[in-house]
Amino acid sequence: MQNRSGITLSPGVVPNLKDYEVFRHSFTWQDEQKFLDGLPEQKGFNIAYEALERHAKGKLKDTVALRWILKDKTFKDFTYYDIHKLSSRFANVLTSLGIKKGERVFALTGRIPELYIAALGTLKKTAVFCPLFSVFGPEPIFQRLSKGDAKVLVTTKELFEKKVKQLLDRLPMLQFILLTDEELHVNDKVLSLPRLLEEAYDEFFIPPTDPEDPALLHFTSGTTGIPKGALHVHGAVLMHYITGKYVLDFHEGDIFWCTADPGWVTGTSYGIIAPLVNGITNVVDAEEFDAVRWYSILEDQKVNVWYTAPTAIRRLMRMDIQPKEKYNLEHLRLICSVGEPLHAEAVLWGEKTFGMPILDNWWQTETGGIMIANYLSMKVKPGSMGKPLPGVEAAIAEVTDTEIEIITEPNKQGHLILKKGWPSMFRSYLHDEERYKKSFRGDWYLTGDLAKKDKDGYYWFVGRADDIIKSSGHMVGPFEVENIVMEHPAVAEAAVIGKPEPIIGELVKAFIVLKKGFTADEKMQLDIIGYARKKLGAAVAPKEIAFVNELPKTKSGKILRRLLKARELGLPEGDISTLEQTP
Ligand code: AMP
Repeated sequence: MQNRSGITLSPGVVPNLKDYEVFRHSFTWQDEQKFLDGLPEQKGFNIAYEALERHAKGKLKDTVALRWILKDKTFKDFTYYDIHKLSSRFANVLTSLGIKKGERVFALTGRIPELYIAALGTLKKTAVFCPLFSVFGPEPIFQRLSKGDAKVLVTTKELFEKKVKQLLDRLPMLQFILLTDEELHVNDKVLSLPRLLEEAYDEFFIPPTDPEDPALLHFTSGTTGIPKGALHVHGAVLMHYITGKYVLDFHEGDIFWCTADPGWVTGTSYGIIAPLVNGITNVVDAEEFDAVRWYSILEDQKVNVWYTAPTAIRRLMRMDIQPKEKYNLEHLRLICSVGEPLHAEAVLWGEKTFGMPILDNWWQTETGGIMIANYLSMKVKPGSMGKPLPGVEAAIAEVTDTEIEIITEPNKQGHLILKKGWPSMFRSYLHDEERYKKSFRGDWYLTGDLAKKDKDGYYWFVGRADDIIKSSGHMVGPFEVENIVMEHPAVAEAAVIGKPEPIIGELVKAFIVLKKGFTADEKMQLDIIGYARKKLGAAVAPKEIAFVNELPKTKSGKILRRLLKARELGLPEGDISTLEQTP
């Protein structure tokens, strides 16, 4: 079977979205909503009900919902019924701890079954779930727990000892820490999760849930201040459902593998919810990237749909492995990518290596689900993010402080904006109403990305409109890193930028002015990097440091990171009229 570009598609499976333009025309949210069940005997939607309960009580009861792959590649299966029971126990644990609707339950665990059970149990309880990356150092963990008013934290003994214990004095509102691998309660606050689960009843009645009730909290980095907490609601499940159906093209019986960690929104929307709402099997690998391991998981698990990220794809491209020769990948039908630009060569590499182009799609923490995508049945233009989801309206616009003007001319760069109203749109930045308001102009949400739209309606990514760094797919706020680097006793001033790097997209680079009396040498570089790693974790800490005599600043004292970046890349310096003094 060929699509309209002549690119070969897998035989035998008809895509759910057969003709993009026709479907976009006839699409209504109401029509799609009919595929969800809604809570029995009451109006409203609860994510956990749609993802789990309705299946656990129906024909998918014994279907594997979650296949958890261990380090030695053996695996443990959990059916829809198993997860239903376990998550009900977790919801009852929350009740016994006095946790109420809307209160925040955090997880810091790595990809272990307890994370998935806690997520679904929290959603059943109508408390709000917030997963954190286990690679974060203590400082980013503290910021998120405190800004998110965490009441409960699910974590492991090791992570608790290494990263959380030292923060407890600064987290007075954190009431309970549930350790996933501790058999006995440690004290009144630090409890054994296995024990609590064992003692809890395995049936739980999901309370009435309004589609507007908060469900998930995801932090995303900002250029200034501490990370922003984007709050999502239960009604988002409709978006998870339709994007699973029309972008990831889930079909009954599919095995799906999303390589993202739930600490990143992709790992929750698509690593937990979308596959379950669509009733398929979700593969979870607890380990980090390893090319050979990944190819053998695709083979052993007979993965049909694989959702991954450009960083991983670029790593695979660098390796001299011809997966189709070495591995039996006949079940693989679709590969999708998100998180950063997927360059044309990567799309075509997919075609050469797997016999199918890698389909790029675009979205962000705030959108809660995929917004712009390439679809199986639509012509692929390698390097483009594709077209907006049916039901989603996107545009390119000039944006001022108060207004927007939509650009209709093709291929003209502007801000990527989205018309309010899709179900998974974030409903607030926690404790930051001002910032939330600033993200909108009338009916339009400003994504913070720059893009172009071509004459055929395809969107092309240009860059971020702000200073946010995208490193290995993670958002890193320069300010967050600068704050920590500045704590080092030798550092007087610091400015952080993203420096393009072929594998990880951008690496975090810090420009540092040292205090008088300190020597700018390699030892100092390593010392500062080491300090930042301890505090921030390796994913966020700078990988490169340059010592400078002064930092370029505006007359009002703002660091001109844009200028540092232009200089680093040898690009034109642009408008430097606001520069305080040219070094
Ligand atoms: P996050 O909120 O961490 O998921 O990051 C969202 C940001 O990642 C977007 O605003 C973009 O800057 C970038 N991004 C995500 N997907 C893509 C894509 N397909 N192409 C280019 N950039 C992307």
